[in-house]
Amino acid sequence: MSKPYKGFEPKWVKEAAPKDCYRSIFRWGDPDFVKYPKESLYKMMKEKFKMTDADFQQYDGSIGMEKVVLDQPSRLATEHIEALKKIVGEKYVTTEDYPRLAVAYGKTGYDAIRLRRHQIDSLPDAVVYPDTTEQVEQIVAYCTEHKIPLYVYGGGSSVTRGVEPTLGGISLDMRLRFNKVLKFNKI
Ligand SMILES: Cc1cc2nc3c(=O)[nH]c(=O)nc-3n(C[C@H](O)[C@H](O)[C@H](O)COP(=O)(O)OP(=O)(O)OC[C@H]3O[C@@H](n4cnc5c(N)ncnc54)[C@H](O)[C@@H]3O)c2cc1C
Repeated sequence: MSKPYKGFEPKWVKEAAPKDCYRSIFRWGDPDFVKYPKESLYKMMKEKFKMTDADFQQYDGSIGMEKVVLDQPSRLATEHIEALKKIVGEKYVTTEDYPRLAVAYGKTGYDAIRLRRHQIDSLPDAVVYPDTTEQVEQIVAYCTEHKIPLYVYGGGSSVTRGVEPTLGGISLDMRLRFNKVLKFNKI
């Protein structure tokens, strides 16, 4: 938590973002942890960009609290969805809006701005949550055979647009079940 301001305090967003909204995707870390610029940094920003307190009194446009609702249905054929479900289990394949958008972008400023503007340039047709190396091997083989684009989303902190599914297809979201440290090599 930042120290209280002595002078004017901008209208920083201090509330947690609802789980299914755009902000919950582009905002970093623990939803309940609030960190905003300290007063000295705020003053420097104001000076450098020649702005006034009045410029910080309200938000300019959306801050991404809206629920994610997309108008881009999955283009993946049902037979492929069913085949993937056979590999990872029924509940570990989804074509729902929020989980698809949640893995569409990384963590560059450009990604955050696009999410804030609801600018959807890329979207996977389905998100798959594998559990084992063998499942990943089977998914890769299946996608290769059927020429389905395949992307991997690890922690999603890419700053090179490496996670972005520019051709659609499938994104493997590793966060749900590849979530254990199995070995650690101290060297
Ligand atoms: C604020 C900030 C600071 C950073 N500082 C550093 C730094 O100091 N040093 C540094 O090296 N990097 C840094 N990075 C970059 C970023 O953290 C790294 O790229 C990170 O290692 C990506 O890991 P990830 O699991 O989040 O991968 P993701 O962002 O999910 O993916 C990155 C790429 O790897 C692929 N990928 C992910 N998981 C797998 C997998 N299991 N198998 C195959 N391919 C996979 C993805 O498809 C994508 O192309 C920083 C990023 C941010 C936002």
